[in-house]
Amino acid sequence: MTKGRIVISLFPNCRATKPVTDSRYDVISSIFAGGYNYDGGPESWNVNYPNCRGNKQSPINFNTNTDRPSPLTSGFFRIYNTDNFTVSNSHGIEFTDLLRRSAITFDFVTYDFQQVHFHIPSEHRIDGKHYDAEAHFVFKDRNNNLSVIGVLYSVNAGGFSKFLSSFPYPPKDITWTFGRLPDVMTADLLSVIFSIAEFGTTSPWAYRYYGSLTTPPCNEGVTWWVATKILPISVDQLISIRALTGYNSRPTQPRNGRTVPGYY
Ligand SMILES: [Zn+2]
Repeated sequence: MTKGRIVISLFPNCRATKPVTDSRYDVISSIFAGGYNYDGGPESWNVNYPNCRGNKQSPINFNTNTDRPSPLTSGFFRIYNTDNFTVSNSHGIEFTDLLRRSAITFDFVTYDFQQVHFHIPSEHRIDGKHYDAEAHFVFKDRNNNLSVIGVLYSVNAGGFSKFLSSFPYPPKDITWTFGRLPDVMTADLLSVIFSIAEFGTTSPWAYRYYGSLTTPPCNEGVTWWVATKILPISVDQLISIRALTGYNSRPTQPRNGRTVPGYY
């Protein structure tokens, strides 16, 4: 993909679930700016990063007819209300948790929260449909195994995310220069968790599957949890996140026989 070239309708299924009348949203949702230029973009990763050619790559598309979300297990989340984050730019802008107090536990292993970052439009799809944005909450165990919670966002009328309200806006005040971003910011992590999972129940809440990092070096062995509940955001919030990330969604990858049976 040529840097700076405008490509129309690369994501034709990317649309809001409710009518949004803000004209700025039409521009965002209908035009893919061809801006995913990290080392040449996803098409070139296979050449430079051998892991990106693996057979358990992410993201994937979920089929609601055949894939099943997993129930929330007891003690899965240990999330603190508000943590302090610092901003860094490695494979895109990341918000690294300075306190490292939050964690998830499954299969008797605890993974500590590391950082959150965003993709526009969403990387995972449901029934072929992209959503407007996706947050990746990255956790790591003591053996450096990764587990990521993916949260999909959709702009809708009156939509608002308390979590995303912590991030810088308006975008005209944000530049790619590290120094222009706040050194330390706070974000309400727990508000996201309460939105995607019903505590005290064993309700299915996320598609669990085995995949990879969605950016080079595309390491596999990542346990993914992609929340089934789509969270609302405002147009302003989408613009704010886009100012940080640009368009940075890796195309969905072959399933190669991977099933999403729901893990009980
Ligand atoms: Zn990501």
